[in-house]
Amino acid sequence: MTYEIQPAGSHYIDGAYVEDTAGAEIPVIYAATGERIATLHAATPAIVEQALVAAEKAQAEWAKLSPRERGRVLTHAAAIMRERNHDLSVLETYDTGKPLQETLVADATSGSDALEYFGGLAASLTGEHIPLGEDWVYTIREPLGVCVGIGAWNYPTQIACWKAAPALACGNAMVFKPSETTPLCALKVAEILTEAGAPAGLFNVVQGMGEVGASLVTDSRVAKVSLTGSVPTGRKVYAAAADGMKHVTMELGGKSPMLVFDDADIDNAVGGAILGNFYSSGQICSNGTRVFVQKGIKEAFLARLNERLKDAVIGDPLDEATSFGPMVSEQQMTIVQGFIEKGVAEGARLVAGGKRIDRDGWYLEPTVFADVTDDMTIAREEIFGPVMSVLDFDTEEEAIARANATEYGLSAGVFTSDLSRGHRVIGQLRAGSCFINSYNDAPVEAPFGGVKMSGVGRENSKAAIEHWSQMKSVYVRMGDVEAPF
Ligand code: NDP
Repeated sequence: MTYEIQPAGSHYIDGAYVEDTAGAEIPVIYAATGERIATLHAATPAIVEQALVAAEKAQAEWAKLSPRERGRVLTHAAAIMRERNHDLSVLETYDTGKPLQETLVADATSGSDALEYFGGLAASLTGEHIPLGEDWVYTIREPLGVCVGIGAWNYPTQIACWKAAPALACGNAMVFKPSETTPLCALKVAEILTEAGAPAGLFNVVQGMGEVGASLVTDSRVAKVSLTGSVPTGRKVYAAAADGMKHVTMELGGKSPMLVFDDADIDNAVGGAILGNFYSSGQICSNGTRVFVQKGIKEAFLARLNERLKDAVIGDPLDEATSFGPMVSEQQMTIVQGFIEKGVAEGARLVAGGKRIDRDGWYLEPTVFADVTDDMTIAREEIFGPVMSVLDFDTEEEAIARANATEYGLSAGVFTSDLSRGHRVIGQLRAGSCFINSYNDAPVEAPFGGVKMSGVGRENSKAAIEHWSQMKSVYVRMGDVEAPF
């Protein structure tokens, strides 16, 4: 890799790296070995101020450009990112511990897809003309202003790009706070945007824990907050943003159902369940962690799943043959171990995995519980680790009702060879991002986001534009004004 892991500064503000060692130390730990690979510092109030001032100044200039000119910068950034995919993927692996086999195809590539898509869309973002007889109204699509992005630790490059790309396309500037667990990758996104021609200050990165995020959310210069994180954090950030009447996008957690009917292609259903539970060691918000399998194929499903689990290559994430890596941190591993213990204690049948792997780093075995019931902790709470719960069901109506009996509503999937059933069932599942005979695809062209406690707003697709811009309407009277006196 040509990148140094230790960045030139902890923060990226006004087009350059900035350091302030007065901020609390943020150690960056490589999840595969437990070693410290870099040291950064949390933003002090002075750093946060610098970032907001830079963003405000850049936004005023950026909004004056034609949307086509803005789009050109984003598509150029997409091309640079794609060209450097290998180095960015290695850095993503160091930041998160995810296997290179995944990061090469799911992180900088997804980030550049977003930059390319919204770069291309920029020039077609318009208002409309509304005829009213002689008079008329026209609408102008305007930026919101300075926006804040706050990221989770599972997809640091992708989250930064999914927020920055539509925000900048609409004429906004952004201050982005990565998770303190994975602070490295967003800095590269900032560097690349500058190189692609974005004005200094348009996309700034400040490091820190929750309080840095909170200080951004409550600042009166900030017009919008987009958070990717857990429901408890979402509640706090949403409430703080509401106090300032700010726009929000909330991409929060889930406990999504995957329904496998008797007539499903078993290998595809097992493949979907593997993708939806073990990719990124299960650290994906939209995962289908409640796998409802119809009783007729339950044992066949479990047998095939067990066979395919033997093909997992667990090892060094930098080896491209590795298909299953460590958890992001010791803390996350400990949380997940606690859920596994609860699963056993509450009577679920452990059919695979369940243990820490005897090697350096934070590795847990891919774990499967069968005979899980709806009331068990592992069926109710988001685990965010490699733990699949298999539940069985008799009828379609029952499966739908049980799938919906959760406070979450991020994703849902159905495996069946009866397409009318596929559409009928998906139509009744209360979730935002759904799949038929597939799981966890997230192309930038499709809206992504949840219902109920899983979130507010949508990322990606044309739908995101509504969340990063606002409409001004202008009434134009062609005749005289009629006043009562
Ligand atoms: P957290 O909710 O713990 O943190 C998310 C971000 O918010 C972090 O950068 C965190 O900072 C910051 N933060 C914490 N408290 C505050 C606050 N009071 N004000 C402002 N910012 C704050 O989530 P995790 O990082 O643990 O990520 C896992 C969660 O993210 C899971 O629930 C998962 O489902 C969800 N997620 C949702 C996705 C979606 O698109 N729907 C995608 C990916 C993950 P720090 O941690 O540095 O202190």
